[in-house]
Amino acid sequence: MKTGVCSKCSSHEIFSGAGIALKKGPFGSNSIPIGLTSIAALDNFVCAKCGYVERYVSNPEKLTEISRKWDSVEPEDTENKDK
Ligand SMILES: [Zn+2]
Repeated sequence: MKTGVCSKCSSHEIFSGAGIALKKGPFGSNSIPIGLTSIAALDNFVCAKCGYVERYVSNPEKLTEISRKWDSVEPEDTENKDK
């Protein structure tokens, strides 16, 4: 999506909300909680054709904080599974 192509329908009608004011939205509605006192604003990328939305945490400090506080998800062993 960040490259301007929809990852679902391959449309090029992608719009980014990364630069809009008040990214966190009223009451933090466009953000995710990291911990009790910390939230991360999200950059939204919307496909105007199919409506698909991708969201990214863009603040590097928040990404570091998440990697410190959240549980790591280990990659699954996919060798014995159909892809
Ligand atoms: Zn699409």
